[in-house]
Amino acid sequence: MECDKCGAPAVMHAAYSGVHMCEEHFCATVEQRVRRRIREDSLVARAATPEEPETWVIGLSGGKDSVVLTKILHDVFEQDPRIELVALSIHEGIEGYRDRSLDACRELTDDLGIRHEVVSYEAEFDVRMDDVVEEDPENMAACAYCGVFRRDLLSTYAEQFDADKLLTGHNLDDEAETALMNVLEGDVTQMAQHFDSSLGPFDADGDGPADRARSKSEAHVPRAKPLRDVPEKEVALYARFRDLPAHITECPHADEAYRGEIQDLLLGLEENHPGTRHSIMAGYEKLAALAADAYRSEDDREAAFGECKHCGSPTGRDLCRTCSLLDALEAV
Ligand code: SF4
Ligand code: ZN
Repeated sequence: MECDKCGAPAVMHAAYSGVHMCEEHFCATVEQRVRRRIREDSLVARAATPEEPETWVIGLSGGKDSVVLTKILHDVFEQDPRIELVALSIHEGIEGYRDRSLDACRELTDDLGIRHEVVSYEAEFDVRMDDVVEEDPENMAACAYCGVFRRDLLSTYAEQFDADKLLTGHNLDDEAETALMNVLEGDVTQMAQHFDSSLGPFDADGDGPADRARSKSEAHVPRAKPLRDVPEKEVALYARFRDLPAHITECPHADEAYRGEIQDLLLGLEENHPGTRHSIMAGYEKLAALAADAYRSEDDREAAFGECKHCGSPTGRDLCRTCSLLDALEAV
């Protein structure tokens, strides 16, 4: 097969669009999709100037997704003084796993000349995921604890670095899986939160209904996922073609069984009906926007409710989720 654009030998075929592409044209389309997403989501605030640039914190795990995101954002904004990038890696305390992916993070950020910060559960919370899995006071999956701690550290440090945006490397498959899970679980609140926390556009003027920076709780740095139009396989291919230092081993505690089932379901659907992931996201985004509109005032009430007694984070309860998990772990 030949590349539809230049006639060189094709290295990939995108069944959902019917296009064959050579290495160079394939990589160019990945970069184009990220640029388009940045534009469509109005990620660069109009107020950003070379004198007063925005700081974008990228959650960099060392896996292919966040590595590809970091590389493309670096290339897009290298000559643009309105945006400053900071990579933030989190060490969960998982023996033999995170150390190696942190090597990949260091190699990449050294190479690109991006500021790189590392924070750990151990230094921040005095826990390591390897021990949390052993103790498991709440009888939950490892990822349920880990997700709470990670979200907490990402937002805390994004705030500490004065970040205007927090960017993560979720790809199209991740997003379609989450969308489908929310639909199948009938969780409309979760849909609303998903939209508010990373799907809708920012309002470039900063005061319209789509101003995610000010929706929900003001305490949180707004999030974005510029890689969310690119399928997982293509992210992996891009990392390989661009020779990026991505770490591929899976976490030994990974146990999201339900997500695994959804993943298999989606892969099967995509194979028989190419374009399924794109159409799920197109419809889901509209639904989630409606849900977000309906639930936003409720969220604001919740956020205005009060502060965590231990750490002061906004929460509707006595203790925020992080502090109540840490309490439970301490009681073991
Ligand atoms: Fe944490 Fe689960 Fe990811 Fe492992 S797979 S790092 S336990 S969230
Ligand atoms: Zn707390």
